[in-house]
Amino acid sequence: MPEIALTAQIIHRLKERFGAIAGVYHSKFNHSERIEIWQAVKEKKYQVILGARSALLLPFADLGLVIVDEEHDYSFKQQDPAPRYHARDTAIYLARSAGAKTILGTATPSVESYFNARSGKYGYVELTERYAGMQMPDTQLVDMKQRNGKKKELHFTNDLLENIQRAKEQHQQVILFQNRRGYSPYIVCSQCGWSPQCVNCDVHMVYHKAKDELRCHYCGFRQDTYHECPACSSTQLLIQGFGTEKVEDELQLQFPDLKIARLDMDAVKTKTGHERIIQDFEEGLVDVLVGTQMVTKGLDFDNVSLVGILSADQLLNFPDFRASERGYQLMMQVSGRAGRKHRQGKVLIQATNTRHPVLQYIIQHDRHAFYAEELEQRKKFLYPPFVRLIQITLKHKFQDRSLNAGYAFVQALGRIAGCEILGPVTPGIARIRGKYRSEILIKATTGALKTIKQKIRSSRKSTLSIKQFQSVEIVVDVDPV
Ligand SMILES: [Zn+2]
Ligand SMILES: [Zn+2]
Repeated sequence: MPEIALTAQIIHRLKERFGAIAGVYHSKFNHSERIEIWQAVKEKKYQVILGARSALLLPFADLGLVIVDEEHDYSFKQQDPAPRYHARDTAIYLARSAGAKTILGTATPSVESYFNARSGKYGYVELTERYAGMQMPDTQLVDMKQRNGKKKELHFTNDLLENIQRAKEQHQQVILFQNRRGYSPYIVCSQCGWSPQCVNCDVHMVYHKAKDELRCHYCGFRQDTYHECPACSSTQLLIQGFGTEKVEDELQLQFPDLKIARLDMDAVKTKTGHERIIQDFEEGLVDVLVGTQMVTKGLDFDNVSLVGILSADQLLNFPDFRASERGYQLMMQVSGRAGRKHRQGKVLIQATNTRHPVLQYIIQHDRHAFYAEELEQRKKFLYPPFVRLIQITLKHKFQDRSLNAGYAFVQALGRIAGCEILGPVTPGIARIRGKYRSEILIKATTGALKTIKQKIRSSRKSTLSIKQFQSVEIVVDVDPV
């Protein structure tokens, strides 16, 4: 399971069903606890283990089945430090080598898994009914362009405000979703919803305020910013990007007596913690829960009639080839929080570009069309599942050192059949923790994997053998997420 979903509730259910043969394992346990579980697994005392990604590394003696719940979840990837592995892929590999089966469960599969399932590599089972006969929510798009005059400054449309008011009157609760990735500001035309895209990649350009220019974070392409919309000639171009705290403040101003709580990384750290916030909401002490993607994960509330998604544009317009996939998954997951048994919930999605194809698929509940379109794009622009990605990051406290090491690395790689090598480029966030980064992206076809692996090893060695690059840190990440 993804880390966050390791709730007491699930452990309780498992123990109830399987008793003493069910064990729990995750990295929050201390060393002696972990050794104890490790031993017990080895001696086959546990027949069922519930765990986060590291549970895969336990010494299973007779593995029969691995179930990966919410297989699309990005937290399955261990990013830092090494070993950088994706728990879903590791589970599949582990199960296969043990002659065991794997079940991947999700309502919003990753594009890779969907492709594997539909192309016959995996088996495919579709649940066509929701749990306990729940209806799909009534999902509607709300055009942000309907705001006018003073209201333009607001991040709430009248539709959303009225629906919050109604929920309050009917003593029902509301979840408002605003994702955290607001640090990448982008430009959007307030009149037609146009937003600048890179000429080489299927991603949005990121606005860099310091230099007043647009950059592609994937291929490094840059250009002057626009002062007029090339689609409709409007000069009203907006820079978008706002977070949960602002949403909370704005809403409180609109409804002074509304009880609002916030669920995001900051709130969890500084306030009363994750469980307390959830509990207050469950007990009805809070009317509206404003949150980041933390509100999309594994929560079942009984009294939520309305889910509001503050900015679909912001979800879909970040510079990553997975923007559509991720936006789709997040919106579908948070939509699932609306409604309860025998009562249909309502989902309002605010957007400037209401014609975005992903939004159309969401309101029509047409997931197969979404995946078909997404796969077509991936094929066209050469992204997974049609190629494997390998990202090489070079870090150094001097910027020119990290960039030049990148050039040396690319030169050492040379040309490799079946591979496209992009970069080095300076990423959007050039310096992290005092170190400048440069990035190389390799798109490799399956046939080229063996060669590229050896090439990366030797290029790394030769780059580090150059005196001025000896202190450069080189990180290789296969299948980055
Ligand atoms: Zn680009
Ligand atoms: Zn326009």
